[in-house]
Amino acid sequence: SQLPVYVCGEIVRGFGRGSKELGIPTANLALEAVKALPDSLQTGVYYGWAKVNNSEVYKMVLSIGWNPFYKNKEKSVETHILHEFKCDLYGRTLKICIVGYLRPEQNFDSLEALIETINSDIDKAKLLLDSVESKQFIKTDFFAKNE
Ligand code: ADP
Ligand code: MG
Repeated sequence: SQLPVYVCGEIVRGFGRGSKELGIPTANLALEAVKALPDSLQTGVYYGWAKVNNSEVYKMVLSIGWNPFYKNKEKSVETHILHEFKCDLYGRTLKICIVGYLRPEQNFDSLEALIETINSDIDKAKLLLDSVESKQFIKTDFFAKNE
């Protein structure tokens, strides 16, 4: 398969559609970084590793979708990092390693159903990232350098 995929880019503002309020903020990757992804990478939910500037490497879940801001002509890549940050991350550099695929995009009947599914995505990601095969990606040169 084409995974893992490594990408690095600036964290930009999205629509701020209340994901922080849901307790599930997603750091949106700048368009230039999104464009660097292989076109063949299908939309859906993935898991992997993330680093913000000089931070340690954290677990993450990520969604790849179509970005309404660019009239759905460009993808959007949104990363929920499994770490509590004290402040906003806008303008910082996000490095991600996309390790595996979880599920396709879905529509939800209710906010509760959406949150439930995301929480189950997070649980699966945590387990899958505990494997020796997943952890090897933390030690790559990609994450070794600081910004
Ligand atoms: P936006 O629509 O601007 O992306 P969100 O509601 O999705 O707004 O919140 C995302 C922002 O929240 C990120 O850009 C970052 O600045 C901040 N943030 C704080 N904690 C996290 C986290 N654990 N994972 C991702 N983003 C976080
Ligand atoms: Mg977001």
